[in-house]
Amino acid sequence: MLSLNDPITKLRLVGPANEKALNHLGIRTIRDLLNHFPRAWEDLTQIQTISEIRPNEKINLKARVRKIADHSARFRRMHLTEGLIEDETGSVIAIWFNQPFIKNLLQEGKEYYFSGKAQFYKEKLQFMSPTFEAAKEDTIHTAGIIPTYELTEGITQKQIRYWLKSCLPLARLIEDYLPSSIREKLGLPNTSYAVSQIHFPSSKESLEKARRRLAFGELFLFQLALASFKQKIKSLSAPRILFDVALVKKFVASLPFRLTSSQRLAAWEILKDLAAPHPMNRLLEGEVGSGKTVVAGIAMLEAAKAGWQSVLLSPTEILAWQHYHTLQNLFEKSGLQIALLTGSRKIGSPSDIAAGETKIIVGTHALLQERITFKKIGLLVVDEQHRFGVKQRMALLREQESSLVPHLLSMTATPIPRTLALAFYGDLDISVLKELPQGRKKIVTRLVKPEIRKTAYAFVRKEINNGRQAYVVTPLIEESAPRPSSPSRGEELKEGAKAATVEAEKLKKIFPEFEIGLLHGRLPGNEKKNIMDEFKSGTVQILVSTTVIEVGVDVPNATLMLIENAERFGLSQLHQLRGRVGRSDLQSYCLLFAENSGQAALERLEALVQSNDGFELAEIDLKTRGPGEVLGTKQSGYIPFRVAKLSDKKLIKQAKEEAQKLLEKHNLEDFPILKQKVENLAKNAHLE
Ligand code: ADP
Ligand code: MG
Repeated sequence: MLSLNDPITKLRLVGPANEKALNHLGIRTIRDLLNHFPRAWEDLTQIQTISEIRPNEKINLKARVRKIADHSARFRRMHLTEGLIEDETGSVIAIWFNQPFIKNLLQEGKEYYFSGKAQFYKEKLQFMSPTFEAAKEDTIHTAGIIPTYELTEGITQKQIRYWLKSCLPLARLIEDYLPSSIREKLGLPNTSYAVSQIHFPSSKESLEKARRRLAFGELFLFQLALASFKQKIKSLSAPRILFDVALVKKFVASLPFRLTSSQRLAAWEILKDLAAPHPMNRLLEGEVGSGKTVVAGIAMLEAAKAGWQSVLLSPTEILAWQHYHTLQNLFEKSGLQIALLTGSRKIGSPSDIAAGETKIIVGTHALLQERITFKKIGLLVVDEQHRFGVKQRMALLREQESSLVPHLLSMTATPIPRTLALAFYGDLDISVLKELPQGRKKIVTRLVKPEIRKTAYAFVRKEINNGRQAYVVTPLIEESAPRPSSPSRGEELKEGAKAATVEAEKLKKIFPEFEIGLLHGRLPGNEKKNIMDEFKSGTVQILVSTTVIEVGVDVPNATLMLIENAERFGLSQLHQLRGRVGRSDLQSYCLLFAENSGQAALERLEALVQSNDGFELAEIDLKTRGPGEVLGTKQSGYIPFRVAKLSDKKLIKQAKEEAQKLLEKHNLEDFPILKQKVENLAKNAHLE
């Protein structure tokens, strides 16, 4: 007899190598395995034909293997298996990377179910690493509704399905953490049923029922965690920084521009929070160029005049330098001391910081790891890190006099759609900068077809000769071989992705008369800074870069943004990149290159050509690519949902209501299993 807490090695056919691979996925016990829900399901009850193959669309075929052959590719250590498969409507080449055993699994002349996507590879439409199973009746891998799992090196879909099938009966032992009253009210099945059906659904309806139950569970736990966290914050004490109207008025009047109305509103909301006795927990959301820094500046000024220090944390050194300069300009007349602390550069004295003389400290997130002595921090401003919990705030408090928890202002240029904000940021108050400062022209965005690339370059040349500058963004640093992908991982082929280094060499030949700089994340900090300085001063006219320039970089004279392999980026990210230009009253342009991409990708990019609205683009990303895309890969680790989707609007609302009701009526102590789950989640979601 097996039990839920038994190690997975107790299962048949789980060897030491499998164990390691499973551990890698966080699976140690049978319970963990049962909780490893499928990433997707395929309804293979529908079989299509080869004539219906479209690029980048999933397809299920029943086809005969005509020929199967091995090749070593031009890349070292690359092994390629090619199969010619056919049905009554045509034939297609299927290829697999680095899986020499495939050749032995497929027999020429026999029929199989194949399932996967076709992509352009070496200019031909090819079926990339499809999964397959011999075409016979009653198959568990390629017929019916089939689960697909997140995998890791060393295990296959087939293995994981086999293991799950064998321990599925144990699902009935899983305890239900949802109070039964809620389950009954909302008509949700119990966990045991949901877990077995999520893995091997007997019908589409039962899968949806199971999904709804598990999704509700996730949402409910998360809403409970957010609500308890919000309660906790309310119970902590923060410095009261009283609203000094005269000071703010004088400062605003001294600015070389008029604040937009949403800047005024946001500043007012923040200043009101600072005056409260418990810590502010606010997100300031505004598109690139919407002027978030000056809003944060107003808050820092107030804190400084009330005797408190402010710390501004940036995700990169470049941005930290930039913030430092912006703040220096803003506070030129006010005589505030500002320090800069990054890995490669320090301005200001530690003793002034320790003595509280320096009121504003700008640095990278790395600042948190260093043991810097502050006098008393009243305000923490965090740029582009959406989740910044109490724990991190406490880390900064280690060595200061005050025991009060500082106020937190988190800034982001990611437009977070309302649905997403409600589901993920229930613990944060949100201020939005809706409009860009006046005088900005709309950026002209074009999708450049391969045949007019030359014309596009001629245009770039003309603009640079008129004194402008250009960014060229590529997805990778160096050219790389296609990554060997396991059949069901569905990884995109990396081959053909323009690499920054290669692109820079190419552009040197095309534009020999211009100075070309190269910027990427692997350069040491001081080199990055030198290149940015050269670009700012105009010595470098074309800056080839990876997405390190994504957020916040401000060079108003750069009016051209060229993006290579644009199809590889999400719309939100492209929109952010586009925001690097259009930072002055000069007309700016964004040129998107997307060679070798399918119709769906081109249509997606068309949305960027049409729309300048970050929120609208984020909504499209949310629908087509999921929340990880909208929040950026760095943030996606904070998304604690495996089953719930943001389109589950009704479920999100119900979860929120039920969580609030429960906390109003009861104490979490009354529900020990629930309490434990909420605590774990709060930790993993970096709320604390
Ligand atoms: P972001 O929101 O992208 O961080 P910044 O704070 O860097 O934007 O501001 C972008 C630029 O716009 C800066 O040069 C800033 O001085 C300027 N700016 C900010 N607010 C206004 C305004 N109301 N009118 C004109 N320019 C402004
Ligand atoms: Mg900024």
